[in-house]
Amino acid sequence: MFGLTAYFYKNRTLVEGAGQYKTNEILTAYLEYDFPDLKDTLDKCKEFERRLHYPERGDENIEFDDVIQKAFMFYDRLDTIIEELPPYDKLQVKRNRLYNIMNEHKYLFNNDQENHDSNYYPPDFYDHFYTPSYYDDLDADMYDSALQLNRKLSEITRDYRTFVEDCIRVKKVYASFLEMLHKGNEYLNAKETADFYRCFLSEQEGKLITYMKLEQSGTMSETFVPLNLDDDYVMYEKYKFSTIGGFLYIDFFKGLHNHFLPRKCNMCGRYFLLEATAYSAFCTRRIKGQRKKTCRDLGSRKTYMDKVNSDPILLTYTKAYKQHYARYLKKKMTQAEFREWADHALVLRQRAYDKGLSFEEYEIEIRK
Ligand SMILES: [Zn+2]
Repeated sequence: MFGLTAYFYKNRTLVEGAGQYKTNEILTAYLEYDFPDLKDTLDKCKEFERRLHYPERGDENIEFDDVIQKAFMFYDRLDTIIEELPPYDKLQVKRNRLYNIMNEHKYLFNNDQENHDSNYYPPDFYDHFYTPSYYDDLDADMYDSALQLNRKLSEITRDYRTFVEDCIRVKKVYASFLEMLHKGNEYLNAKETADFYRCFLSEQEGKLITYMKLEQSGTMSETFVPLNLDDDYVMYEKYKFSTIGGFLYIDFFKGLHNHFLPRKCNMCGRYFLLEATAYSAFCTRRIKGQRKKTCRDLGSRKTYMDKVNSDPILLTYTKAYKQHYARYLKKKMTQAEFREWADHALVLRQRAYDKGLSFEEYEIEIRK
């Protein structure tokens, strides 16, 4: 039910029915999405996966309608989230799937618990699902139908559970691998990338839970197709994925290769997509209350100031520069004198970095 077909070429990803995306644009959206407590959601998924089947024992019989009502509401809330996430926001997500499955097998159930006479006509769609009999009482056809229902229920509950696991993997595994990759605040070459990947994999060794590992979910198959999207035909890699987790895995590694990678903005803390242009640790979102300034505008200044403050040679240089510039503004220095000083100051700064001057000598010289 979450299956999709996608085409990849360079930094472009095409999802059938949903249109074009940049590589890792979809992963960025999942990283950014404010999910409800995913662990709690996963626990509920597992509980429904276990409990949703045609009742076999007395207590399951009594509780079944109650369980299915809770399941309708739970999966409906999940559908609301899924509908907000790409590419499903552009694909038609089927709502009420569980309700429809139950109604396909409604003759196994009663819509209420009354005793009706022969003039009673049950409604076209059941809202409640009470079981009249035990497994053993079913005739052969009904038994088949119950088995079929069980297969559908286990499929749908598994698909939802896998979806939630895929989302947890994004928030836990992809996020921490990305943090590792961006540590140096620069794009990595192929060797550095491979080294980090090896290191990350070794950290993951021994983890038993699959959604805590950097791996795909579901199944995928690959073929090559020629597509003409611009002017000429090019070869696209065509994948059929059964889950979003499979798609994200392939898209992620393509982005890792092409320098299309999500990263967390050092200013606002939100994710943005680096698109192989100049590396930046800051996004281009507008800052609240500062109409024309973006995180990147303020961030570059902040990075410079952080560097100045942790670098006494640079700090001394910046102070001296400000003093001399003020002298020039007050006309105590001509423009030519100021330029000459500025050139000289750069030479002094370099000599201080190269240890040709002690810090004390440098401090005295640059103030002159
Ligand atoms: Zn930002």
